[in-house]
Amino acid sequence: MNNADVPNNLLPVTCLVCGESQNTMVGGFDANGLPAGTVNCMVCRHAFQRDAYIRALELRRQEFAGLTGPGAV
Ligand SMILES: [Zn+2]
Repeated sequence: MNNADVPNNLLPVTCLVCGESQNTMVGGFDANGLPAGTVNCMVCRHAFQRDAYIRALELRRQEFAGLTGPGAV
């Protein structure tokens, strides 16, 4: 995996099987910046269903936004 190819808004999602947040993906990205091919867990090789991946990605984005949003000075 080459992190330089990953857009800043694409965060690794948590594996439903082993709980690790390390993904591998094949085939680059589509026009929406989403993985064009299969996304797998780097640790246990679980293959994410596309719907499940997008749901998990939304969750991660919300978590990340919460961490980096305007906070206490
Ligand atoms: Zn896994």
